[in-house]
Amino acid sequence: MSARTEPTNLLDFDPAALMAWCGARGEKAFRARQLLRWIHQAGASDFQAMTDLAKSLREKLEHEACIQAPAVLSDHTSADGTRKWLLDVGQGNAIESVFIPEANRGTLCISTQAGCAVNCRFCSTGHQGFNRNLSVGEIIGQLWWANRALGANEKDERVISNVVLMGMGEPLLNYDHTISALRLMLDDHAYGLSRRRVTLSTSGVVPMMDRLGADCPVALAVSLHAPNDALRDVLVPLNKKYPLRELMAACQRYLAFAPRDFITFEYVMLDGVNDSDDHARELIALVRDVPCKFNLIPFNPFPESGLHRSAAARIKTFSLLLQDAGIVTTVRKTRGDDIDAACGQLAGEVQDRTRLQQRLEQSTKFGRIVGVNA
Ligand code: SAH
Ligand code: SF4
Repeated sequence: MSARTEPTNLLDFDPAALMAWCGARGEKAFRARQLLRWIHQAGASDFQAMTDLAKSLREKLEHEACIQAPAVLSDHTSADGTRKWLLDVGQGNAIESVFIPEANRGTLCISTQAGCAVNCRFCSTGHQGFNRNLSVGEIIGQLWWANRALGANEKDERVISNVVLMGMGEPLLNYDHTISALRLMLDDHAYGLSRRRVTLSTSGVVPMMDRLGADCPVALAVSLHAPNDALRDVLVPLNKKYPLRELMAACQRYLAFAPRDFITFEYVMLDGVNDSDDHARELIALVRDVPCKFNLIPFNPFPESGLHRSAAARIKTFSLLLQDAGIVTTVRKTRGDDIDAACGQLAGEVQDRTRLQQRLEQSTKFGRIVGVNA
């Protein structure tokens, strides 16, 4: 008796890969498009429900393939309507995705890695260390699942109008899988989102920003968090590899491809660390040549961080300084913090804690550095 091979998860295929897979089985391109619509628009997971496919094809699919998103471990809704899912990605690892409903749009925030290797000082995901890259199916599976869970099909209206890659992980360090997932988000036979409504957030992986611009430009958010290299080296350790001068140049280059004519800079507001008037002035000089908007994020504390959120009045003053310099600046509303769904609070569960000791040592070192007004 021949052993049955593992079924192929069709969520792992971007449009071109699905086309190739179907082609290798003698199926025409339009079959791949039908499949895309069944899987990603109708949210189907059962091949027998795909009634416009020939019975013989349905049987072949049944035998060889599956449609499998990560299993849901928990599902919480916050008092403000924000909804968070904890999803199982195997071997004790879990990731989180968050849906944020607003009057005129619905945004899904998705993860791209289990944990994160960048280890930003203020981020709970970074604090847990890195376990592994998510597969295409695990990334797009978050959107696939949320669409189903939010009942997109019953009402025939698009509940999720925007996607932000701002959950756990650094998307540009899981480049190939992230690009495939982006292609599905943008494809008219799959999710059909406009490039302007898909935002990738990066801590500044400079060479990959150039590749993203060439391969699949979407709206870009860059996590800046500091106006000079000395401070950014500490807050976002990747800065040692790609310092601010290179990062600013990469932002300018990206604008030649970007669907929007500005870069969004994210700046987490940390009490006494990066939030003084001098920091604001230094920031204005830094971004002088980059058309941009600023999104100030009040720091969301987590127990081990040892950091504090800037006072509301400080955030206001900081924001006014940027605005007076002609930079559009918004302060991010904290959503879903009663269910730990706010920025930087996504923790999931990551098994590999081997780097924890190393990190604890770093945070002690940091404790001395933050006192210095860099
Ligand atoms: N790795 C990517 C995307 C995920 S993080 C990046 O760093 O851009 C998404 C955003 O949440 C980033 O701007 C990040 O700096 C911010 N963030 C992380 N931890 C935070 C915290 N504790 N409070 C507020 N914002 C946080
Ligand atoms: Fe990673 Fe982004 Fe968190 Fe930094 S802020 S550790 S890059 S997820």
